Amino acid sequence: MDCIFCKIIAGDIPGERVLEDDEFLAIRDIAPKAASHVLVMPREHLPSLDEVGRWDADGKGQRLLDFTVRVADVLGIRGSGYRVVTNVGADAGQVVDHLHLHVMGGDRLGEFH
Ligand code: AMP
Ligand code: ZN
Repeated sequence: MDCIFCKIIAGDIPGERVLEDDEFLAIRDIAPKAASHVLVMPREHLPSLDEVGRWDADGKGQRLLDFTVRVADVLGIRGSGYRVVTNVGADAGQVVDHLHLHVMGGDRLGEFH
């Protein structure tokens, strides 16, 4: 499958890994929009949050959120605050069709639309 995040997960193209376990990976965004900007993704290919019902039954959705908080901890922004965003589809401007949560913080974030 021609998915850039699957290629990063597989190690075929580089990514700056922040945290990983057997289910999820967090990498630094290549074009950061905040002082800390990391992308959290499942190793399993899923096009977007819209499809999350496919695997949520086994608790993976909860583990994804727990993992995301651990990422904020590793980044040192858990105390100062952070934003978690996921884009779904055209109007949200989703570019990479592999579910990922943006974790942003490290400075005061602007309001968003
Ligand atoms: P989205 O619009 O939610 O699909 O966001 C895609 C994000 O992936 C953008 O913030 C990009 O900067 C980021 N991105 C694209 N390619 C890479 C890459 N090779 N490594 C890290 N981040 C990437
Ligand atoms: Zn993928």
